[in-house]
Amino acid sequence: MKKEECIFCKIANGEIPSKTLYEDEKFRIILDLKPIGRGHALILPKAHADDLYELPEESASAVMILAKKMAIKMAEKLHSVGLNLVQNNGEAAGQTVRHFHLHMIPRYSSDDEKINWIPGSPTEEELETVRKQIVE
Ligand code: 5GP
Ligand code: ZN
Repeated sequence: MKKEECIFCKIANGEIPSKTLYEDEKFRIILDLKPIGRGHALILPKAHADDLYELPEESASAVMILAKKMAIKMAEKLHSVGLNLVQNNGEAAGQTVRHFHLHMIPRYSSDDEKINWIPGSPTEEELETVRKQIVE
C-alpha cells in the first residue's frame, strides 16, 4: 500500500522518475541521489513500510535475495571488490526517509570511505547483562 506524501512510495511506484537498476512487481532498485560512492543503490519495496519493524517477513526475505543478486551483478559490471549493506531504522539510527530501504554500497580497492565506528570495550559482566536483557 502507498502512503501519501512519501517520496519513496512515489519513486518505487514510478510516479517520480529515478535511475532504476531493477524493477519487479514488488520492488525497485535505484541509484542514491547523493551516493557515498559509485553505484550506491537503494532497494525499495513498492508497498510502504516505515522501517524494518513494519516490513512484512516475506518482504524482508525477498529484499536479501534481491540484494544478493544485485551484489553479484555490481561486482561483475562495476568491478567492485566489496560491498556494505546498510539499513537505518528510526531517527536515532540516522534514518532520514521513513520508507524502508536497504543501502547497497559497492566498494573498490582504491576506496577509503570506510563505514566506521569506535569499538567499545565492555566487561564480560556488561556483555552478560545485555545478553540476558535481550534473551530473557
Ligand atoms: P537514510 O539516511 O534514510 O538511510 O537514507 C536515505 C537515502 O536516500 C540517502 O542516502 C539519500 O541520499 C537518499 N535519497 C533521499 N531522497 C532521495 C531521492 O529523491 N532520490 C534518490 N534516488 N535518493 C534519495
Ligand atoms: Zn512510502
